[in-house]
Amino acid sequence: MNVIEHNYRRVLERIDKAKSESEISAGEVKLIAVTKGRAVEDINKLFAAGARDFGENRVSEAVTKFNAFPERSSIKLHLIGQLQTNKALEAVAFFDCIHSLDRPTLAQAIAKAQEKSGKRPELFIQVNTGEEPQKGGIKPLETAEFIKYCSTLQLNVTGLMCIPPHDEQPSLHFALLRKIATENSLKNLSMGMSGDFAKAIRMGATHIRVGTALFEKNEDL
Ligand SMILES: *Cc1c(COP(=O)(O)O)cnc(C)c1O
Repeated sequence: MNVIEHNYRRVLERIDKAKSESEISAGEVKLIAVTKGRAVEDINKLFAAGARDFGENRVSEAVTKFNAFPERSSIKLHLIGQLQTNKALEAVAFFDCIHSLDRPTLAQAIAKAQEKSGKRPELFIQVNTGEEPQKGGIKPLETAEFIKYCSTLQLNVTGLMCIPPHDEQPSLHFALLRKIATENSLKNLSMGMSGDFAKAIRMGATHIRVGTALFEKNEDL
């Protein structure tokens, strides 16, 4: 068994364990394999091990790596990095799901791109739960209004996404994201990365975004 296959199985086990420990009735948790900066050869190993959801930060890198992917129709591609409005059309046409809807101008650009392309990807609104100035995202108190705005644009928003500040307890941010989603009847929560996905699942994550734990040799795993 190669390292990547080993890691993939180990992450699946850790997901199951976290689900069993969750106090929130845990449904399906989708593992998104974050493949930014990884070689196609390694992505193929992950696919062979069973992965079907892949996440990339940049539109151009994703297109380069996945456009010719032989099994393109059996995988789902997720954009998890910040999206420039001038790339919205390309992103809407290429990705099944966009996790980084973080501002009104992007909502407008996605709405236009939907009309042009006839595609309607699933969307997550990124919430800046730590209110960090350098990070994208809607402020927690402005999220309800932004959700309403997106529905007037016919956007297919199904959930919320966050990236907690490095130096704070992620659980507080996961709890806040969950609260905002519940208040606004959104069912999906994209939260949790290599270092904190078990915590995120215990707090109700439906989508986790995991890179390092899948690709790198890790003595903890
Ligand atoms: C890179 C990245 C991840 C994966 O991070 P790891 O710590 O490598 O698991 C998840 N989400 C976003 C938005 C990222 O940019």
